[in-house]
Amino acid sequence: MKKALVSGASRGIGAACAKALADAGHSVIVNYRKSREAAEKLASDIGGAAVRADVSDPEAVRDMFGVAGSIDILVVNAGIAMQKLFTDTSFDDWRRVFSVNVDGAYNLIHAALPHMIHEKWGRIVIISSMWGIRGASCEVAYSASKAALIGLTKALAKELGPSNITVNCVAPGVIDTDMNSALSPDTLSSLVDDTPLTRLGTAEDVANAVTFLCSDSASFITGQVLSVDGGFAV
Ligand code: NAP
Repeated sequence: MKKALVSGASRGIGAACAKALADAGHSVIVNYRKSREAAEKLASDIGGAAVRADVSDPEAVRDMFGVAGSIDILVVNAGIAMQKLFTDTSFDDWRRVFSVNVDGAYNLIHAALPHMIHEKWGRIVIISSMWGIRGASCEVAYSASKAALIGLTKALAKELGPSNITVNCVAPGVIDTDMNSALSPDTLSSLVDDTPLTRLGTAEDVANAVTFLCSDSASFITGQVLSVDGGFAV
């Protein structure tokens, strides 16, 4: 049994990852920012603990690790989306997306690494997006932040390989979570039309891939981007 932390695990993909890792026999820390009730309920259901921290705040992340202790498996999942024309995206908008999606990854990985390096064992899975591979119109900040995570994954995998720490990325397609609740039925249906497997993904579809990458079966896989998108980005 290993100890895992999933960021942004109160809802959606993060919550499914926390459940799946608990089902795989790990003890799981459920990180959240606002949804305390949901995080605490999930933590109690899976025998884990809920710890609040805004991942964009380095001090809050350090405090969270102070409470949570050492982590063997880190799932960098917390993220925010933003739909705006690039010309309407202010520098503050841009910074907000990068502070959660990219600075958050930096803060979490920095806090988790000393123990993993000491133990010469670790699994890091970062949730990017197919838009980080393909780019999405009206989501330039989001796409750029998710592309940054792919670069981070590949470079860090090379640096941490000798320490027996794998770093991989999962790139989901259109997944049925709150993040897409603002999309109109027409937009969702055209996204489904563009998905070869002709359906929206579920949070569990993504969690299954994450759990595999954290398992012993994936011990020789690092620096990879695994698309879980029903074939959308092919
Ligand atoms: P979601 O339903 O909107 O849930 C987002 C989660 O992130 C919540 O648990 C939220 O916690 C947490 N969170 C947001 N900002 C945070 C912060 N600053 N600090 C800590 N936690 C924070 O999103 P989702 O669809 O599950 O997405 C999860 C990840 O998958 C994101 O990185 C997203 O970009 C990526 N992704 C999603 C899709 C999709 O179609 N849904 C596709 C590709 C990639 P609180 O509720 O406590 O605020």
